[in-house]
Amino acid sequence: RRQRHVLVRVAPLTSRLVVVLVDDRTRERHVERIRRDFVANVSHELKTPVGALNLLAEAVAEAHDDPEAVVRFAGRMQREGERLTRLVQQIIELSRLQGDDLVDEPQEVDVARLVRASVEANGTDAELRGIDIAMRCDDELYVLGDPSQLLQALNNLVENAVAYSPERTHVSVVAEHHDEDVQVTVRDQGIGIPAPELERIFERFYRVDPARSRSTGGTGLGLSIVKHVAASHGGSVEVWSEPGEGSSFTLVLPAAARTREDAEGSDAEG
Ligand code: ADP
Repeated sequence: RRQRHVLVRVAPLTSRLVVVLVDDRTRERHVERIRRDFVANVSHELKTPVGALNLLAEAVAEAHDDPEAVVRFAGRMQREGERLTRLVQQIIELSRLQGDDLVDEPQEVDVARLVRASVEANGTDAELRGIDIAMRCDDELYVLGDPSQLLQALNNLVENAVAYSPERTHVSVVAEHHDEDVQVTVRDQGIGIPAPELERIFERFYRVDPARSRSTGGTGLGLSIVKHVAASHGGSVEVWSEPGEGSSFTLVLPAAARTREDAEGSDAEG
């Protein structure tokens, strides 16, 4: 049993609608404040890699008679460039998701495929660090939504599980059918997250340890993307964690009708 247990639930759309009806202006002001904070944070976050690139470019120019130094600086420039690319991609992704509107024209998405794809996408990083990723998936699990958003969300969870775990540990990805939902749980034996931080990690750009996140190439946006994808699919994200033991993130998504029919046999009303 884990001692600390915190649920981060994204409000279902219906309760958000109530808020809109009660006081539309308060909500507008709130949305406006979030947008302003986001823009301020984005500027700040972009300045770091851009500043580093400028300094490195100067260093390269000054080190022209030292080929080894040039190669070293060029390598660092490449890493900063990759970080910047990733940051920009995630900012674009997040600004697309910010409305939390339900996905337009949802498709039927095969959860087993998502799980396999996310494990494959992180296979190389995991292998390099001697981390094995096990996966298990109930048969015939389907959700309705946007397959690329869902893959992005799951990818972010698996990526974090690998990034915040010591070498030679285990990560598992388990997808199961639970009542009306599909639950996909990514569990690791990593560094864990202190209880007071648990409710903050889903905020944009929030990192428990900025230095560590930087060295793993993190942007602080991964989990906020997960939260928004969950919300735009009518679902939620839950997290359990114990520092020094590991973390477990569960993406809860409403099951598509096909899943329920298959799981419960013939359903006359279906
Ligand atoms: P980042 O790009 O920094 O990983 P995320 O939004 O994905 O940003 O995560 C926010 C922070 O939450 C991370 O910086 C890290 O401190 C913490 N975190 C996320 N996932 C895990 C995990 N599986 N184990 C430990 N800490 C984690």
